[in-house]
Amino acid sequence: MNKKKLFNIVATIIFGLFLIIFNILYCTLVFVPFGYSSLLVSTFVICDSILLVFFVLEGVILFRTIIEEKEYIKTNEFIFGDKIEFDNLEMFVKKVSKIINTKKEEYIVSFSPIKTSVNYEIFQSKELKILNKELALYFTKLFSLAKYKTFKARVSYDNYCFIIFIRCTSDELLQLIKDVEYKSYSISKEKDIRIFIQNYFGICKIEPNVELLETINRSNIARKIGEYNFEKAIFFEKSMIEGKSDENMANAIVNALRNKEFIVYYMPKFHLQTKRFIGSEALVRWNSKDKGLISPIRFINFAENRGLIHEIDLYVLEQVCKDLEDQKKRGKRLLPVSINFSIYEFYTPTFLDDIKQVIEKYDVNPLLIEIEITEETTHANSFLVISILKKLKDMGLKILLDDFGLGFSNIKSMKILPIDIIKIDKSFIDEIVYDYKSREIVRAIISFGKALNLQVIAEGVVDAKQVEILKKMKCDQIQGFFYSKPIPKKEYESFLMNNQFEKKEDASL
Ligand code: C2E
Ligand code: MG
Ligand code: MG
Repeated sequence: MNKKKLFNIVATIIFGLFLIIFNILYCTLVFVPFGYSSLLVSTFVICDSILLVFFVLEGVILFRTIIEEKEYIKTNEFIFGDKIEFDNLEMFVKKVSKIINTKKEEYIVSFSPIKTSVNYEIFQSKELKILNKELALYFTKLFSLAKYKTFKARVSYDNYCFIIFIRCTSDELLQLIKDVEYKSYSISKEKDIRIFIQNYFGICKIEPNVELLETINRSNIARKIGEYNFEKAIFFEKSMIEGKSDENMANAIVNALRNKEFIVYYMPKFHLQTKRFIGSEALVRWNSKDKGLISPIRFINFAENRGLIHEIDLYVLEQVCKDLEDQKKRGKRLLPVSINFSIYEFYTPTFLDDIKQVIEKYDVNPLLIEIEITEETTHANSFLVISILKKLKDMGLKILLDDFGLGFSNIKSMKILPIDIIKIDKSFIDEIVYDYKSREIVRAIISFGKALNLQVIAEGVVDAKQVEILKKMKCDQIQGFFYSKPIPKKEYESFLMNNQFEKKEDASL
């Protein structure tokens, strides 16, 4: 707690007690001996009682604040060691509001050292100490660079994210971010501890007409967009909240298709029994000329609603077929690739012909292509869906049901759809270590899959404990950041040639 506040409360209590004692003495020594009316004396006593209640309350508040403060410091110590102290957001806003000087370059930086999805594991582990030591160093360096007072706040205890006020030029800030990024990575490697450190910074310049809380919010928006796009540090731009007008966005997508701005990343899938990578998922990214790399989350839904998705997915299929053809020519390792298709495309009359045409154009073995559909597909006209899926299978392609477990009709889907593979949704895998319900649901899905002769993939695996559990449950394949993030073609090829997982005796650990 702030020293000034503590001093005020203590001073008020002492003053109040002094007033009460003075009143009692006055009553006893002055009024009573001289026979003043009992009404006057009672009035004084009532007033004193009210004062007393007031000061007792003040005392209770003080006591509770001290306890809460102690708790706060204790938790901070547990999480950060004693080198760093953090304000909470409220205190941060109060302090920073007082010193903002919009004539200078000042920034609010939202900073998160690890992806939220791996936080839970990190919070439980001793590796946290190393991460925190690294953070302490980072903050010390950051604050020594700032030419003026700098403040830091922790957003909340369950969110490993910090808000920093800093006064320096944007170049200095970017340089510092680069240094920190490099150092934290090398330290985690040196100690041979697998902490998946991924620093993400969202930066927002303080502007005269924007409230501080809004600036904080904007820096957070920038950081989250950075996380989605795997961008380390990104500056807030107004378009992040305004969004493009629908027409502009649709035009931008059409232009992007024409200018070949979409690129395909590959995310490897690991087969637990053979301890080999046996395929990958193609995930599209928009490499925009003005905006940089954009995550599919930001445009796939829009493209679906505007009837542009079929063109994007065909584009992805074509890119994948080209890559496979090229890998074949160069004698590279050829593994099946699954491609996401959206339900809306099934209504395109030329859907099947388009797919067939692309595959034939590049003379790709259909066994190398898998089609990923999501469960919502099953809510559509099931006659149409089933007949299209059957035709795709007749062409030799495999069908994969993605995000399995999210919808309500999974079991029915297993019965009516001609699928070969199911992919368990990441949300179940996220909690598989700590939540027995998720664990048992995953176990049940795997045994259902086995009983129906389907391959089962677990998606979103980030640590060894999850791998261990899935292995015991006899899950077939695993996809997740534990093995690799989605990566561009070149990196994917090198990864297949040389990776730590296939080399090891026990490749899953
Ligand atoms: P999805 O098909 O379920 O793809 C898996 C998403 O989960 C990918 O995100 C992948 O990067 C992410 N993911 C997988 N493992 C992990 C993990 O261990 N940790 C974390 N944090 N994330 C993991 P991405 O690439 O952003 O794609 C998001 C969604 O966008 C996809 O979900 C899919 O529905 C859609 N999408 C992506 N590419 C295409 C495409 O070419 N066509 C269509 N129609 N949709 C696509
Ligand atoms: Mg998918
Ligand atoms: Mg999925």
